[in-house]
Amino acid sequence: MKEASQKDHVLIIEDSVATAILLKNYLTSMGYKEIHSCQDGKTGIDSFKDLVKSGTDPIVLLDFVLPDMDAKSIMTQLLEVKPDVKVILSTATEKTDAGVTELIRRGLYQYMEKPIRFEKLKQILDTLDEERKYFEKNSKHKVSADTDKDLYKEVDFVLKSQKQISLTMIKQLVGGDEVKIESYIKDLESKNKLTKLENRREMSCNQCDSVKVIQIFYCPSCQRNDFKMAKIIEHFKCGNFSEENEYVDDKCPKCRKEIKALGVDYRVLKNRYICNKCGEIFQELSSSFLCLKCENKSSIEEVRWKTSQFFKTANM
Ligand SMILES: [Zn+2]
Ligand SMILES: [Zn+2]
Ligand SMILES: [Zn+2]
Repeated sequence: MKEASQKDHVLIIEDSVATAILLKNYLTSMGYKEIHSCQDGKTGIDSFKDLVKSGTDPIVLLDFVLPDMDAKSIMTQLLEVKPDVKVILSTATEKTDAGVTELIRRGLYQYMEKPIRFEKLKQILDTLDEERKYFEKNSKHKVSADTDKDLYKEVDFVLKSQKQISLTMIKQLVGGDEVKIESYIKDLESKNKLTKLENRREMSCNQCDSVKVIQIFYCPSCQRNDFKMAKIIEHFKCGNFSEENEYVDDKCPKCRKEIKALGVDYRVLKNRYICNKCGEIFQELSSSFLCLKCENKSSIEEVRWKTSQFFKTANM
């Protein structure tokens, strides 16, 4: 007999061993059998590449704060391997980070607050699972004319996984008859399952017009996407900039003199990025925009903007 439901692979990238074990146990109890767990960004990305190469499509549970790599660096690298990767981000503190808030608002990632609430995780995973099964089944018996019921169901899936979404995004994610989608949306609105928000501008690809466009990040100096967040100490006397942990025993790694008084002979710069490849330290990341549909990359000046009706969904 064929197995009724084969669950996805899950890749946990989490530096806290305790949290990783909790997650693993919980996922096992949910029926996930293939759970891979990594403690830093580098091994996480390597495992992800291996899993994709071997033909699996893992869901990634990513901790926002990891020792060796910034989450924006990891997400950029995952996307370059697989533009439709499903990432569930978990974070305790970085919710206000502009880049991430934007990703979450655009509904392209799921987001979980720490400490992790398992019922929230279950809800996200169940939706992903249901969605995947539905589309798998449907693509097998795809007939040219979808029934209206199928179309509505696809709209429901799209709405289930997002808090706010534009009409353009719904249409593009679902595909199919736009008039029918619009009338179904009106129907949901009248049943208070959707709330109309103001019109907003939304980025779209300058080649294929898709609004599935997300921001990716890289080092301004070498253009590579492997970097981490770091606390930097500037030693005024010799002009050295290094990570805090390189000042062993309070000695400057460049001039070997002791750093003495904060603000007098040295200062601490927080929230700097340091490139893992070229070692360059910088305050702002460079970024560009990746179209998840045609994989075209463009700068902020090149992206197109379109105005679209936004909706707030009632669930989640
Ligand atoms: Zn495109
Ligand atoms: Zn670099
Ligand atoms: Zn020095």
